[in-house]
Amino acid sequence: MDRLRGGFAKTAERIGDNLTGLATRQALDTSTLDDIEEALIASDLGPEASRRIREAIAARRFEQLDERGLRTILAEEIEKILAPVARPLEVTGFPRPHVVLVIGVNGSGKTTTIGKLGHWLQEQDYGVMLAAGDTFRAAAIEQLKIWGERIHAPVIAGKEGGDAAGIVFDGVKQAAATGIDALIVDTAGRLQNKSHLMDELAKVRRVLGRLNPEAPHDVVLVLDATTGQNALNQIKVFRETAGVTGLIMTKLDGTARGGIMVAAAEQFGLPIHAIGVGEGVDDLRPFDPRAVARAIAG
Ligand code: GDP
Repeated sequence: MDRLRGGFAKTAERIGDNLTGLATRQALDTSTLDDIEEALIASDLGPEASRRIREAIAARRFEQLDERGLRTILAEEIEKILAPVARPLEVTGFPRPHVVLVIGVNGSGKTTTIGKLGHWLQEQDYGVMLAAGDTFRAAAIEQLKIWGERIHAPVIAGKEGGDAAGIVFDGVKQAAATGIDALIVDTAGRLQNKSHLMDELAKVRRVLGRLNPEAPHDVVLVLDATTGQNALNQIKVFRETAGVTGLIMTKLDGTARGGIMVAAAEQFGLPIHAIGVGEGVDDLRPFDPRAVARAIAG
């Protein structure tokens, strides 16, 4: 989880420095609590979660508290918010294939995540097929094919501007006929102000529903964790328009801002299935609330 470190570390250090004088007190004073709350907000945790953590910390009594102790209790309180949303994606759909629609704004890491997710499922011995349902960009189709080659998974694709619902229909038929467990569908469901893309997604869902009333089994929204508040807006919009059932957060390597996951958990309670920590095929990790909480607390 080293790649996740960084978000809260500096501020915790500063707060830690201010704690020296408090070390023998049994509770934190208001100005230290203010500092902590401010630091949490600055780390993207959002006002609700930050207040909740502040109150939880204020209610605790300590024998002694130093910077390390502060980080530990912060991590504990953050973990309490994250733990309920940790839920790996499970291939339960029957009859096969289990269908996963993947949506997200351009550049969020949608295609890369599909490749990594496919690989992750293959490692659990599931047969995976990819469907290039994002027919609005030729580049998206090409990129998905490249990922298919990389992970040795079949890719169902048509032409740019083609009918996404038709491709998904073919994907389900072929997956069922060839014993594929999971069909991961790239979709054009990505722009809140482009209603035709949302119509396209609705059509894909209708066709899927006709083939299997339980499909799609998952509608996964891919979010770039470095976009902060923007990511929360995307959850809000896509939850309303696309029936999101779970999240994957990407780009939590580098300048990781994992705090946004706490805000998302507090505000929406949607499952977080996994996190992306790089561009490689192995860079999708299960969402581990303890590790993420510790990384945020520094
Ligand atoms: P899409 O437009 O949503 O399909 O996004 P892409 O999958 O093409 O990803 C956009 C860029 O982000 C590419 O350069 C990816 O390699 C990169 N990317 C995707 N996921 C991650 C991640 O978890 N970490 C890092 N560092 N880069 C990522």
